[in-house]
Amino acid sequence: MASRSIETDGPGETETVGGELARMLRDGDVVLVRGELGAGKTTLVRGAARALGVTDPVTSPTFSIGHRYPGTGVTVSHLDLYRLAGLRGEEPELLDDYLGPGRIAFVEWPEEQAAELAGARVRVTLTHRGGDRRRVDVEEPEQ
Ligand code: ADP
Ligand code: MG
Repeated sequence: MASRSIETDGPGETETVGGELARMLRDGDVVLVRGELGAGKTTLVRGAARALGVTDPVTSPTFSIGHRYPGTGVTVSHLDLYRLAGLRGEEPELLDDYLGPGRIAFVEWPEEQAAELAGARVRVTLTHRGGDRRRVDVEEPEQ
């Protein structure tokens, strides 16, 4: 498992980390993004989506489990499972439109939840460090 850790000092820096992460990704990837509320998960996904060619505004999915955005040669899926613990076990087909070939999916996941989405190749964990400081840990398996 290759991993790296970086501290950011504002949302712009976390978006930049998201953009760097995007360059490691390939078609069909699922990226699990963990962290408490306000840790910067959506901010990181926004930076990654921009780097993948998404021009639509990237906002938190509030009334649905996710959004899909057209990017450059790929659809960028953004799911927020914060309020949907156990969803995959109960209604796995709900996720089918968001994952798989032709897509790169970012799944925001509550830190306290023990279960893990099968098939996530990359994991990002964001941690509050006080004020605008965040720690960003990125883990991915060896290529
Ligand atoms: P989450 O999706 O984890 O709930 P968001 O990305 O929606 O978090 O919100 C993070 C909030 O924290 C935003 O208001 C953002 O401007 C602010 N913020 C401050 N410093 C940082 C940082 N270093 N990285 C990311 N967001 C930050
Ligand atoms: Mg969020």
